Amino acid sequence: MQAELSELLADVKEQILYLQELGVENLNIDLTEIPDFKFQIPNSRLQTPSVKSETPKERLERFVPTEEILKKTVELPKVSNKAPNLEQNQSRLSLLESTKLSRLASLPKRDSLFENKLEQKEKPTMVKETPVDDMSSSLFGDISQTLPDSKETIEDIRADIGNCTRCPLHEGRTKIVHTTGNFKADLLFVGEAPGADEDAQGEPFVGRAGQLLNKIIEAIGMKREDVAIGNINRCRPPGNRTPTLPEAHTCRPFLIREIAVIRPKVIVLLGNTACQNLLDTKVGITKLRGNFQDYYGVKVMPTFHPAYLLRDPSKKREAWEDMKKVRDYLNSLK
Ligand code: URA
Repeated sequence: MQAELSELLADVKEQILYLQELGVENLNIDLTEIPDFKFQIPNSRLQTPSVKSETPKERLERFVPTEEILKKTVELPKVSNKAPNLEQNQSRLSLLESTKLSRLASLPKRDSLFENKLEQKEKPTMVKETPVDDMSSSLFGDISQTLPDSKETIEDIRADIGNCTRCPLHEGRTKIVHTTGNFKADLLFVGEAPGADEDAQGEPFVGRAGQLLNKIIEAIGMKREDVAIGNINRCRPPGNRTPTLPEAHTCRPFLIREIAVIRPKVIVLLGNTACQNLLDTKVGITKLRGNFQDYYGVKVMPTFHPAYLLRDPSKKREAWEDMKKVRDYLNSLK
């Protein structure tokens, strides 16, 4: 009980400190009035498993589909993982197949730039893994391309997702957690996958990390209802583990289609999984954060995941620097 109380107290103090750090002035709180004021992150939270603390076996499982996953993997139309060899094959189709958007399993109904001639399966299923090494080369390679025009709506995409069973994560979910918020927003946040609270409520970022995300949004002068919020994966991975690449690649197309509908001015990628899967890179968040990247003409700001900020509040300063760049860029468009 005492441990829970002191964790709660540390939480409150942490949030107050963060708001003060962010310059919120009308917080009339004297921290010294809160008894026993020693700002400590409880050990239990420091021990939360992170990507860094993965064992080699866990890491392997994340990148290499397990037997179980492979059994559930159904062959999709053959798409090359390799960069196109222009000498061997000059056809436009092979070029389209090699781009990030067009090689995805469920990007239907496109015309214009990304007209996709790949045969669409009635019911797309688990996507096979694309080797990370092949993907990293495309990180900065698509800057001349822009988001395709989308003729669909968010409702169309949700209908397509349906009662999804495309990857094994559906087995443990309570609710599918769809992208929510303002679908005309200039700003889209993308996280990793739902946690327990999100799984129960069917809404992204409603737990502790979500509370912090709300504060981050408010700190840049916006409200949660002004922005859109989604995840790479829409079903909670067991024990909150990181989604495997096949799982992420199975769910990611729906987010990408939503991006083409929402057409945000900025996408904030929260943490490694969001960066790895949207930018197709294995470069870590610590290196990527703070610098705008390009995603089909949309500015992308990689920053730390709020759950990581809860574990290591000293990183909030850098996250705030990143968010100020986002705020200033959005203000510059007004
Ligand atoms: N963490 C995420 O990445 N997404 C959520 O929706 C909640 C926590």
